[in-house]
Amino acid sequence: MDAVSDKLRGIAVGAAIGDALGMPLEFHPPHPVYDLVTEMVRGPLPAGTFTDDTEMALALAESLLLVNPLDTRDLAARFTAWYQSGPDDIGIHTKQVLHLIARGTSWEEAARTVQDSEPDSAANGSVMRCWPVAVARWNSPALLVAESRLQSEITHPHPDCVNACVLINLILSNLVHHSPGSPSDAALRQAIASAVEQVDLGTDFRLVVDLAPVRSRDGLRNTGWVRHTVESALWAVLTTRSFEEALVQAVNLGWDADTTGCVTGAIAGALYGLEGIPSRWRDVLHGEYPVRSGKLWFQKDFIELADKLAQVGQASE
Ligand SMILES: [Mg+2]
Repeated sequence: MDAVSDKLRGIAVGAAIGDALGMPLEFHPPHPVYDLVTEMVRGPLPAGTFTDDTEMALALAESLLLVNPLDTRDLAARFTAWYQSGPDDIGIHTKQVLHLIARGTSWEEAARTVQDSEPDSAANGSVMRCWPVAVARWNSPALLVAESRLQSEITHPHPDCVNACVLINLILSNLVHHSPGSPSDAALRQAIASAVEQVDLGTDFRLVVDLAPVRSRDGLRNTGWVRHTVESALWAVLTTRSFEEALVQAVNLGWDADTTGCVTGAIAGALYGLEGIPSRWRDVLHGEYPVRSGKLWFQKDFIELADKLAQVGQASE
């Protein structure tokens, strides 16, 4: 397996692993540093089960595989079908938008209506699922930016949400491009610095990103606000030296642990590759998608998905 494939597979498996590792810690306060959770344990779902973050990412991946370039109507229909299948978990903002679409409203109007009812709402519901675009478009920067934006706008049109998706996916693609061999700390810092230059985050959000590596653990809030998720994920990868360490630090922040785990897992997967992910976590990863379909997903299915998404990108070049 070449280095690029290892990283693309690392993104897909890493994101799902982070989701599953964070699942039992969601809605709980941070674990004390002397008692960190380091294993896949049972929560509302059995140990190793991924949640809505990964289910929505799989809907996005499905759409990318079937329609090239990304078609927002197809994707909105897949998100809505997922909502109608009765998932165990769903974000409030996402649910409101998909409910309107399910009742016949266009996705554009549904997204606008919900955002207008709470103009400052900028949750992490689109950044948690955005990684399939990076896997498909890692070598097509213009499409990566455009489709990262579009997949967010269907449910989360707030500029912070849209920009967070573009930022994270640019970081992922920069890491995939990075030649193996140089120290991963420098590679990560370069990948983030270069991504930040390509997104107009605005002064405040930019500061959140710039200061993430020097935040203290106690200063991280890790709520469902997209700025908190980006801050926590960048802190976790920038202050650690392995996939395992980054993920343990991320999910033990509690609160929106699974989503922070997801974003951290995608970045750490691109940084350390599939081979850098502990096998004891990979071996228990699983979940069902479509919900209640009987179709189970394991590590091998995420690897296969990453390989197929990478081919979509090659076909569009
Ligand atoms: Mg979740």
